[in-house]
Amino acid sequence: MTHDIFSRLQRTFRSGRTKPLSWRRSQLDAMRRMLAENKPEIIEAVRADLGKPASETLLMEIDLVMDEARFVRRRMGMWSSRHPKPIHWLLQPAFGWTLAEPKGVALVISPWNYPVLLSLEPMVDAIAAGNAVCLKPSELSPTISHLLAELVARYLDPDAFAVVEGGPEETTALLEKPFDHIFYTGGGRVGKIVMEAAAKHLTPVTLELGGKSPCFVDHTVNLNTAARRIAWGKFTNAGQTCVAPDYVLATPDIAQMLADRIALAVTEFYGDDPRQSSDFARIVNERHFDRLTGLLADGGRLVCGGQTDRADRYIAPTVLFGTSPDAPVMREEIFGPILPILVVRDADAAIDFINERSRPLAAYVFSRDVETRKRFERDTSSGALGYAIPLGHLISSRLPFGGVGGSGIGAYHGKEGFKVFSHVKTVVDKPQFPDTLQVVYPPFTTLRQAL
Ligand code: NAD
Repeated sequence: MTHDIFSRLQRTFRSGRTKPLSWRRSQLDAMRRMLAENKPEIIEAVRADLGKPASETLLMEIDLVMDEARFVRRRMGMWSSRHPKPIHWLLQPAFGWTLAEPKGVALVISPWNYPVLLSLEPMVDAIAAGNAVCLKPSELSPTISHLLAELVARYLDPDAFAVVEGGPEETTALLEKPFDHIFYTGGGRVGKIVMEAAAKHLTPVTLELGGKSPCFVDHTVNLNTAARRIAWGKFTNAGQTCVAPDYVLATPDIAQMLADRIALAVTEFYGDDPRQSSDFARIVNERHFDRLTGLLADGGRLVCGGQTDRADRYIAPTVLFGTSPDAPVMREEIFGPILPILVVRDADAAIDFINERSRPLAAYVFSRDVETRKRFERDTSSGALGYAIPLGHLISSRLPFGGVGGSGIGAYHGKEGFKVFSHVKTVVDKPQFPDTLQVVYPPFTTLRQAL
């Protein structure tokens, strides 16, 4: 089956069908129509898999894909046109230019946590660049994966797109094919498997991975706003967001106060019993539920939350205070609604703490001190840096989104996404007359005389 799908997509690409801008426009329009006409079904499918609130699916998934499609549709003509380049004097008279050509058949492998956004946004960029696409959504969100397979077949060009449902077995079979680009979003363990498989065909990869994104807070900021923004960034989708603040590093003068205010923000957002709130999501499955409840042990003093219910896959928004750097919760990416707060001496100690660990997908700094900000910007490395705003960088098509080191390879969104799925071809055109190249033809009598 995998073989047939790959051959079909390759045949379509080789026929040239996906290259005209008119085709790309029609597919982007079809994608937007698909989302607009099926909002309730999509929202319900994501709720069935993740218990995700409707507003989160709408704002953080459907709308973002729509925005990206609109953004790239307007600009892809300009991005893929010829760009004149100056030519070396030795070749004069001559002309040079670059143009972006589609890579070919792209494989997009997506995870379960933002199953619409992380499947369709890379697809939008791939379409804008003129590619055929095979999408492999996650088996851990089967309802929405199945719906995406149905909708893509119904709305998009069936010869140029395919959705393969399934898990490791199906992905392994797909990875044997010589795709022209592999775009993977998910954990680092599978990222390595993907990269190893890609190496066999020298297929370029984009790896959008995760990690522990730190969040530094000092006394110079308004703690109420900081607490609300951190709580929002952390507890959206029950903490199952790749760029959620994983843990907080707070200076001793404000650490306790910040913890209390985050707990207050949790009550403001989700009420006294977040379990009853229709705005708070559930954990994706029992395996992750068990992993997360395991992380609660020896995690520090409980400021709020801690309640769990396996049957409902519910873990309350939980804030831990005075967490030790060696606690279980600090040994892996949390990816759930547990927020440890560690007390650090000052900004320098926080920077050292961050630099001793794998480079994160995002780092957040709540400080109004210009020097402190400069130091984080200069002395730490992360996929992105947010001042006083977690998650903010991911919602703009104008900002590249990606990791560094252990948090990923490559970036996308907007023009960066278009570039991911394009090859920039260099073209040189030297008219035959006059044949000024004679200077470089052997024998080099003229050149020797000049030396
Ligand atoms: P995952 O790594 O388990 O799965 C991702 C994809 O890989 C799925 O489609 C799955 O079917 C496939 N897969 C799983 N096992 C495989 C195997 N053995 N061989 C081949 N393919 C396999 O996803 P996850 O780890 O549950 O996702 C969460 C992780 O993803 C977190 O680390 C999170 O930070 C990261 N993430 C990153 C981003 C980003 O944009 N950088 C976004 C969301 C999630």
